[in-house]
Amino acid sequence: MSGDILDRALAAKAVITIVAALLLSGCQQEGGAQIAPIAPTPVAESLEQVTTKALDAMGMAGVGRIEYTADGWEACLGQPWNIDDGWARWAITDYSRVIDYDTFNSVQTAQRQAGMDPDKLGGCGAQPGAAVQTQRSSVNVSSPWLQQLQVHLTPPGFLKLAGSVNAAVMRGDGGLQLAMDVDSGGITYHLVGSYGDDYLLDHVLTRVDDSVFGDMAFEAEFNDYRNFNGVVFPGHIVQKQGGFATLDLVVNSVDPATTTSAEPPEGSGRFGGGQQPDLPPYERLGEGIYALHGAYQSVVMGFADFTVVLDGLQNDARADEIIALAKELFPAKPIGYVLTTHNHFDHASGLRQFVAEGATILTHDTNVDFFAEALANPRTLNPDAIDTSGLPVDILGVGDFLAIDDGTQRVEFHKLSGSTHADDALIAFIPAIQTIVEADLLQPWINPVFGGGDHPFLVWLAGELDRLGIDYAQFVPVHRPASPPLMIKAELMDAVGRN
Ligand SMILES: [Zn+2]
Repeated sequence: MSGDILDRALAAKAVITIVAALLLSGCQQEGGAQIAPIAPTPVAESLEQVTTKALDAMGMAGVGRIEYTADGWEACLGQPWNIDDGWARWAITDYSRVIDYDTFNSVQTAQRQAGMDPDKLGGCGAQPGAAVQTQRSSVNVSSPWLQQLQVHLTPPGFLKLAGSVNAAVMRGDGGLQLAMDVDSGGITYHLVGSYGDDYLLDHVLTRVDDSVFGDMAFEAEFNDYRNFNGVVFPGHIVQKQGGFATLDLVVNSVDPATTTSAEPPEGSGRFGGGQQPDLPPYERLGEGIYALHGAYQSVVMGFADFTVVLDGLQNDARADEIIALAKELFPAKPIGYVLTTHNHFDHASGLRQFVAEGATILTHDTNVDFFAEALANPRTLNPDAIDTSGLPVDILGVGDFLAIDDGTQRVEFHKLSGSTHADDALIAFIPAIQTIVEADLLQPWINPVFGGGDHPFLVWLAGELDRLGIDYAQFVPVHRPASPPLMIKAELMDAVGRN
């Protein structure tokens, strides 16, 4: 934080606590836009006056429930094809959201289809030629905060939230603002909403906890307000997480008199948890080489003076497990390196824990700047999580090839070309046991939902491994296969019709 900004904050004594909170948010460089750099000052208008004017501007005084329909696209946070392109996009049609602001219930449905950018599918299960899927979600007072934001981050919802916590009315250089702290799930979230002179909500910025970004920016933008059925509502709604859009909707209709229920239909319950096989925590694959069992498998290798961890980075808890197992298996050796096979967040979560262990992160060259910034970002919202902002983030970019070899052990990293899942896809190859550690590339073989067989992903993978001339016999897929921890090359050859 610059001294200049701090001095101005200190000058505004009457609003010192809220200004400090705003400035802290504004000073964070990574993870999205900053709020106005000029310290807001309180204004004479009360929250009640602002709320009344804003509801009048929308024609929504007394409206407790709305339904709006839209088309557009959405994107999965942390699942890009290439990090420079933003999160990979899925087309959305027939989007409908019903919100009951009085009971805090909402139901959303849409048709979604992967592959808006067919050569750059990215993750979240996107595959070529995917069929349209029906998507449903619901929100209520018990929902996680991220889901609740889908109600709070609508113009009427934001006013309702502001009233519930007696938000401060401020004026920054962008105009009128409502600023508030909201407690949910043990975390205090700061939200700032910016209004135009017409008292219509333009923009909301908040931050949520994320394993990679730390305190990650979550923004909503409201544009093209117009009259729908007597109420004024944004014609274009954009949400961004980590600076990249996750939702982009062009609104088609708004019904302030809808009779559609805002509660999910009976029996539309949740998926049950999958059966976990009864496996030991790890399994020896060779001298100083272990596979760690789990829904996300990992491999730990002992070199003379350090260990190397190969992916498995599903989430913070899994990273903690992997670190503990690496130390149990090799008590005298620090973790020297950790590989994220590609930048999808389910293969990059928990990197902060490895930074705290002093490990060097291995990732493809294309991700180096991204991880350097994201991992150095403060993580204050989730006090149990590791805040790396005081620690050096050490990253070693991998190009087409890199090997770690100290004479006792060797692992090679190879870049695959032409993946529609991830432009940065690396595999690790351990020559001593002729084993490839890969993530997501074998998914059509592991998960029947993809159809298996001679899936184009598998045909491409087999060809790439031939091109690289890798003499492999088996795989450790990060996603647990049917017979953990291995899959055998001959089976892949069968699957792609090459035996
Ligand atoms: Zn992936």
